Amino acid sequence: MSWQVDVLEFAQKCVYCGYCSICPTYKELKWENYHPRGIIDQIKLYFTEGTKDDLQKDVSKSLFEAIFACTMCKACENICIVDLPLLKIWEQVRQEAFKRGRWNPQLLSLYNKVKDTHNIYGLPAEERLSWTGMVGMNLVRRTQKKASLAYFVGCQASYSGKMIEIPASVVTILRKSKVPFTVLGNEEWCCGSPIFLAGGYSVGKTFAKHNLEQLKKLGVKRIVTACSGCYRAFKVVYPRILGEKWDIEVLHITELANELLENKKLKIKNKISEKITFKDPCELVRHCGLSEPLREMIEKIPNVRFEELPSNRDDALCCGGGGLLKLNNSELVKEVNDRLMTEIEFTEVDIVTSGCPTCLDTIQFGAKQRGLEVEVIDVSELIKRLVEDKK
Ligand code: SF4
Ligand code: SF4
Repeated sequence: MSWQVDVLEFAQKCVYCGYCSICPTYKELKWENYHPRGIIDQIKLYFTEGTKDDLQKDVSKSLFEAIFACTMCKACENICIVDLPLLKIWEQVRQEAFKRGRWNPQLLSLYNKVKDTHNIYGLPAEERLSWTGMVGMNLVRRTQKKASLAYFVGCQASYSGKMIEIPASVVTILRKSKVPFTVLGNEEWCCGSPIFLAGGYSVGKTFAKHNLEQLKKLGVKRIVTACSGCYRAFKVVYPRILGEKWDIEVLHITELANELLENKKLKIKNKISEKITFKDPCELVRHCGLSEPLREMIEKIPNVRFEELPSNRDDALCCGGGGLLKLNNSELVKEVNDRLMTEIEFTEVDIVTSGCPTCLDTIQFGAKQRGLEVEVIDVSELIKRLVEDKK
């Protein structure tokens, strides 16, 4: 299968330089077993033919523990001196754990929900657009209608009450710009991100095929999303697993909003007097190389008070919420998140924005724990505040 790599062959190329000590979970756990280079070492033992059964069993315990204590932030791969495809290796080890029946029950339950109901909550497909009623919007005229742009809402924004401002803001932005768009409604399936992160590419491919089929049926040429997980799935994973059949342009809301401001389809009508910062989501910046449209957009805001976090762009700290870590070690999520909170506190901003529902949730939680007086919002809400008509 083309999306697989020879794990053992690559593991043997590691030169143990230790550059990957920047790993956010290793920094907390401090055991060599959790160091990317330590994981590589265990992989070598586990996958080498002839490793004695007892030893393989012992190694598998610590290897699988370490592989699920990873946020898939990609900091290790980005710094790796010999360019090892570490994320692909981690995904395959997670898949190996699945084959051996070694996933924890929460992870297995999420996997089954996505497989059976096509969303991460196990809720009916008919409820995908229920949020519209809650914010007084009606998308009936746009649901499954032909258009060149589709808004891919994503599971968290569709189903989680906590995230309701995200879809409401994206729709407001699109309506303000008068760009025709469609939504898939109950034919929108999970992008497959949780399945891909768990290494389930064969199952995930059916999700990719379904979503592509639906989008093509409506003549969609571009999709926009406000979720970094969906963005990564469409931008990086789908082309990898669908090959040439994938030819739709994928945009994050920061890219589209920047473009709409640029060509004057969207106008800034309101001031933002608060001091703002932005947390680069790992899946946008390191997985997909997306960081500048947000900055270009920020520069277009008159008299904006924007301050970068000390670690930004490629060096952005992980929020701790990625890689399904919450399901495997929620204490570790808090510890990783705490470092980010220190940076946020240091900037003394009034508003923290991000472009990812998981970051949003994790940062909101961390800010509350630390008692920070800071508002944590999605970047789509910030854009909405700039362009909406005040009542
Ligand atoms: S992806 Fe991130 S958390 Fe996982 S091993 Fe690499 S640096 Fe550590
Ligand atoms: S940076 Fe790459 S080569 Fe160096 S120790 Fe880490 S995995 Fe091995």
